[in-house]
Order: sequence, then structure tokens, then C-alpha cells
Amino acid sequence: MRTPILAANWKMHKTVGEAVAFAEDFLPRVADVEGVDVVLAPPAQSLDRLSRALAGSQVKLAAQNVHPEEKGAFTGEIAPGMLADLGCAYTIVGHSERRHIFGEDDAFVARKAAALLAHEIRPIVCVGEQLEEREADRTFEVVESQLRGSLAEIPAGRAAEVVVAYEPVWAIGTGKTATPEIAQEVHGFIREQLGKQFGDAASGMRIQYGGSVKPDNVYDLMAQPDVDGALVGGASLEPESFEQIIRFDRGNAE
Ligand code: PEP
Repeated sequence: MRTPILAANWKMHKTVGEAVAFAEDFLPRVADVEGVDVVLAPPAQSLDRLSRALAGSQVKLAAQNVHPEEKGAFTGEIAPGMLADLGCAYTIVGHSERRHIFGEDDAFVARKAAALLAHEIRPIVCVGEQLEEREADRTFEVVESQLRGSLAEIPAGRAAEVVVAYEPVWAIGTGKTATPEIAQEVHGFIREQLGKQFGDAASGMRIQYGGSVKPDNVYDLMAQPDVDGALVGGASLEPESFEQIIRFDRGNAE
């Protein structure tokens, strides 16, 4: 049984005050929600205050990025131990914006994921094809290679702690969501690949979909057998809309 995981990626949005105001509005709204893991990934400067605001709630904290080294001359970077110290339970690595804007490759993502696990932080490892790659019928090839590279340093026996996020780049922030059928096709493929790498553990690994997830499409996406959650950008910025996403199991009618 895989617990659904709904994570908010705020990217470079919200001041510290805005992040805390979100938590004050959001936490009472979702206090009764059970059976799902709810995660907020604010910009780094809000991690400390948000960590304190979330204390005692079921909502978990995540960072949006990490550097794989423990410490040293890496100006502007944050080490995994520092994120653990702030109370991060999860951290996003390999987001397509990190890959495409900041040039991060699979090997770097793999080091980050392993470094996080060493600090008991669960990595959310993002993969996904670009529009040209989908149009050239290369989706599976691209996703297979990203998975193999980005998960290369996950120690045997820790796979179940890793979350994979399938985020087709053409669907991120564009309003073009993958259809539930497209999402399932790729998620099923990802689970097969995880099986080749991690054996039976693959059936317990959670695979999130990301790319223009909204209250009105999350139910159909989550109804797919291999869609275990969502990584949500734009629609996670307002408490009401993210609450509706977390309550996906009520269906589209509400
Ligand atoms: C994301 O930030 O990972 C994302 C999927 O963004 P959006 O939901 O806005 O497409």
C-alpha cells in the first residue's frame, strides 16, 4: 500500500511572511486530512520559520534543492545536514528547472539524492522529457536514462524512501496537463524500470505526477494505478486550491 504524497513546490515565490501566513491559513483547513502525506517546499529562506509553523502538524517540510557535499567552499549552497537541522523530511532534486536553467546533470542529481538519504531526508527525484523529445518519440528513452543516472547512488534497501516525480517539461507551468492515460503510461514504464533496478522494492516506491496539476484534474490523475501523488507548482500557492488538491479523493464533484 503506497501512501499518496501531495507536495507543493513554491519555486521562487513567497516571502517569509507570506509563507507563514499560508501555513496559518492552510493548517486548520487540513487538520482533519488523513491517509496522505502533505509536503510544502518553500524557498530556502523560509525553511526555518515554516519548520516552526508546521511543528505539531502532519504537514512535512521540504527543500527545493541541496548540495551533495557536507560543507565547504560552495558559496550560495546548502548542505544536506543543514536541511536536516531545519527539520526537512523531503527535498526535491533534479527538477527540470535545475536541469535546464542551471545545467545540473543526472550524476549530480544522484549525488544529491544519496547525500539526502545519508541524513534521513527523503529525496523527491524529478524526471521528465521535453516537448521535442516527446514529439520525436523519445519519452521512454529519456526517462529511462534519467532514472538510471539519477538513482545510481541509491543504496540497496533504501529505495522505498525515494519518491520519483514524473514531470513532463512541456506540462510544467504551461496549463497543458498530461492526460491521465499519458501519465499512467509513463508511470507504468517508470515502475518497470524501478523494478529492474530495485526489484520488489519498486512496488512500494511512490511516483508523483507533476505538470499543471489543478483541483479539477487531480482526481482523474490520482485514479491511475501508478500515480501515487502530485508535485504541484502554481496551484499550490493558494491555501484553498492546495487544500482541494489534497482532498483529491472527494472527486471532481466537490
Ligand atoms: C512544478 O513546479 O514542479 C510544477 C509541476 O509546476 P506547475 O504545477 O505550475 O506546472
